[in-house]
Amino acid sequence: MERTNALIVEDSPGLRELANNCARLWNEVNFERRQAYVRYKKFSWYPKHLYEKYAPMVGSATAQQIINKNNEAWKSFLELKKLEASGKLPPNITRVSMPRYWKRNGKRELRVIVRNDCYKVDLEYLYLPKGLKLRYKGELKWKGKRSRLEIAYDDVDEVWRGFMSVKVEEPPKGGGSKSLYIDLGVVNLATVWARELKQPMAFSGRATLADWWYWARRIAKEQSRLARVNRTKTSRGLRRMYRIRQRRFKHAVNAMVKRIVDDAYELGLSKIILGKLKGVRNNNHNNGKANAMVNNFWSFEYIIRRFKEKAEEYGIEVELLSEYQTSSLCPTCNVKGVRRYRGLFYCPNCDKAINADVVGALNIAKGKTIIPSPSWDRDNGLVAQPLLLRWNGMNWEPRRAMSIRPMKTLGARISRL
Ligand SMILES: [Zn+2]
Repeated sequence: MERTNALIVEDSPGLRELANNCARLWNEVNFERRQAYVRYKKFSWYPKHLYEKYAPMVGSATAQQIINKNNEAWKSFLELKKLEASGKLPPNITRVSMPRYWKRNGKRELRVIVRNDCYKVDLEYLYLPKGLKLRYKGELKWKGKRSRLEIAYDDVDEVWRGFMSVKVEEPPKGGGSKSLYIDLGVVNLATVWARELKQPMAFSGRATLADWWYWARRIAKEQSRLARVNRTKTSRGLRRMYRIRQRRFKHAVNAMVKRIVDDAYELGLSKIILGKLKGVRNNNHNNGKANAMVNNFWSFEYIIRRFKEKAEEYGIEVELLSEYQTSSLCPTCNVKGVRRYRGLFYCPNCDKAINADVVGALNIAKGKTIIPSPSWDRDNGLVAQPLLLRWNGMNWEPRRAMSIRPMKTLGARISRL
């Protein structure tokens, strides 16, 4: 599996010059290809004249790396074009555009790509082509076969960031057939259930949602201020706000994913099955903000990717049910239930109210089970309300003062088993 070591690299005039020439090469290759594509729908995959022009400036291996990366960008563009033509574009892609230039706000984006055999690293320094020897900060967390190194200037934080790709050996697959079932949502980011658990767990999205909206309001304010005062659309301050909002969201998601996957591993589960209802959940229909969020920017793709990456590290398989059947049938008796208020599901047949997200998680589990297991029996003590975990900006913590005895995490429960 592929992982990345993230570094901060010291600034130097040599690095700037190298990166500037890399960006010029990328932009020139890209410019010619865009022109040729618009006119003739084709171009050469090897722009010899540009290679020969830039190889002396950036080194032949790096010139080749940049051209290769541009090739990759164009290949995926052409693939998407094909899918678009046959009407098979993935739903999260709304527009297919030609690869962009390494340019932002009228400035070149500074970036260097170094082939795996063209750099060295020790505990203190990075050794790059053109005789550059630069200090770096950051831990080389992933060990394994190194592939290419990218160094890019981050103009929001004003630092050079290095991304060292490493091929890490995959841990052996756990085997067995026990699964963890997860319903992804917004009001609850994830509702988790496994047969090994007596009580489902829900990770409340409330704090994350509120935080996102706090930053969205600040961003909107800053946007209108910029338009009014500076007559511009963007600024470093604004880009910083976007980044803070994104980072805070990712922090909560990553902590949640880590906790769930850690627990799945400790429970000896070999598979995680992720499900998400098509579109916005029914039980959110009064929550306009949650709806706006799902429609505009809620990144299920990001959450799913993080689950896959994390689980891979533990040898746990992830299966995705992109649009699972329904959350309107009772997981116990299959009778159509009714929605009561605020995400509560009621089954008239069992005369039982269940948290709607729990119904989702249970139905995901059920969809994967051929013979109904005894745990579906309503007398088997399946708890209808999840243990609710809340994000406090640092950790996911169980809500106190529940009618059920206070519980910690799956991990705490394992120690009792
Ligand atoms: Zn029922």
